[in-house]
Amino acid sequence: MSHNKKNRKSTYSLFRIWDVIVIVVVLLLVALALYFTLSPEKGSRAEVYVSGEKKAELVLSKDAELELNGLKLIVSGGKIWVHSSDCPDKICEKTGKIYKKGQTIVCLPNQVIVRIVGKGEVEAIS
Ligand SMILES: [Zn+2]
Repeated sequence: MSHNKKNRKSTYSLFRIWDVIVIVVVLLLVALALYFTLSPEKGSRAEVYVSGEKKAELVLSKDAELELNGLKLIVSGGKIWVHSSDCPDKICEKTGKIYKKGQTIVCLPNQVIVRIVGKGEVEAIS
């Protein structure tokens, strides 16, 4: 009788350990799902085109500088912008910082286009 009771008790505490593990795993999954849900529209990469040809691809989460065709591009804090340009109209500089999927910076005189592309976008669409 007492032996049986002891046995049941140890089985119960084993289940409690697994309960805790399951709860921790579920919480981690929920946190992960929330993380991805809360930042869905934030583009993750910037494609840089010169004369219609893709010349560079920058990851926005990594700070960087790129000098290309008279333009100086800066990536910082998840955004990209034209810091300076030798073009006459400076429209690209005035465009400012971009970071959302689909946003572009265009420099017509220097034929440079910077485009934000999102995570997991299918390349074959274009
Ligand atoms: Zn320009």
